[in-house]
Amino acid sequence: MRVSVNDLHREPLGRVTIDENARPGSVALEGSDRRIDLQWEGALDDRGRLRRCPVCGCREIFKRYDFPQRLGLALVIATAAGAVLLLFLWQVIWAMLLLLAAVVVDRIIYVFTGQCLVCYRCRSEFRDLVIDETHEPWDLAIGEKYRPIRQIEAAKSQEQCTHA
Ligand SMILES: [Zn+2]
Repeated sequence: MRVSVNDLHREPLGRVTIDENARPGSVALEGSDRRIDLQWEGALDDRGRLRRCPVCGCREIFKRYDFPQRLGLALVIATAAGAVLLLFLWQVIWAMLLLLAAVVVDRIIYVFTGQCLVCYRCRSEFRDLVIDETHEPWDLAIGEKYRPIRQIEAAKSQEQCTHA
């Protein structure tokens, strides 16, 4: 499998290709002398499916479409802005056609884009491995458990400011 490795602060460290059948204890990042340790205890089930993050040992992973999230978000915002503008100009049919085109593009991306697995904690991404219906998509409740400490502290200080 190919892995985009992040540290526990979710900062990218590099990429690495791992032979999961060999379960190496450590691997060198591509184009770097740096090595990372891997934890294989419970990482793969008996059918070789990834169940835990071997990078940080987190028990929870989710699957997502392997499409740049920022590009996806930009498409949604551009479509919404375009539709609002067209409605403002009373171009209802063009607004509807734009929304319909966005749905078609979304379906095309859905059909042609592969999936990857992502660790909830470190956000390392795993590609070229078995991904099936036993892997769950993103779950907000689980995601909240692994919200970075920095974000939690920022939210708390904001709360204190509004209460002051
Ligand atoms: Zn992880």
